[in-house]
Amino acid sequence: MFIGHFGIGFGAKKIAPAISLGLLFIAAQFLDLLWPSLLLLDIEHVVISPGITKVTPFDFVDYPISHSLLLVTGWGILLGILSWLFLKRFRYALIIFACVVSHWLLDLLVHRPDLPLAPGSDSRYGLGIWNYPVLTGALEGLIFLSGVYLYSRSTNAKNNFGKYGLLTLAGMLLIIQAANMFGPPPPNMTAIAWAGQLQWLFVILAFYVDKNREMRINKS
Ligand SMILES: [Zn+2]
Repeated sequence: MFIGHFGIGFGAKKIAPAISLGLLFIAAQFLDLLWPSLLLLDIEHVVISPGITKVTPFDFVDYPISHSLLLVTGWGILLGILSWLFLKRFRYALIIFACVVSHWLLDLLVHRPDLPLAPGSDSRYGLGIWNYPVLTGALEGLIFLSGVYLYSRSTNAKNNFGKYGLLTLAGMLLIIQAANMFGPPPPNMTAIAWAGQLQWLFVILAFYVDKNREMRINKS
């Protein structure tokens, strides 16, 4: 899953107004922001195997640190504690935790059974929606657009950066999703990892967009 995770980040702003969209992106997409570095360090591995699912050619042979439920829960707790220290609100820590764990649950819907519960465990899970491209597109699109809708309804642009920056951010994410679904498979693991690192640009842009928007005051 790609834009679905960003959709969760966008949507979470409505219930966590003091948390920047950039931080919500980091939480919702944390596992896939961590994963490219683990690939480059040769700690986790992916094999390109065209046809393994209809949507993605990736065979996630091992990724226990970034994508096992046990460690994902640990990452959620860690990010939750860090945000508690900085934001001083337990509720916000819970939202960050929930965003991190939501990633695994959404991946569970689309991945083939390759998601482990804990490092070293042989049982792997995944419901395999990636074998149904139309369903994948509908699911990711629905989560993403709902999230963008919630974000744009609960915030106002302070200036043109806030307005067009948001459009640019959402548009770029949609283009990447389309390229992932319809483009040729990447040549090798290193290319996947470096393309993955580029996601940090979306995080930076999200911080910037969020700085140029403000929460809408509800007058009712
Ligand atoms: Zn993932």
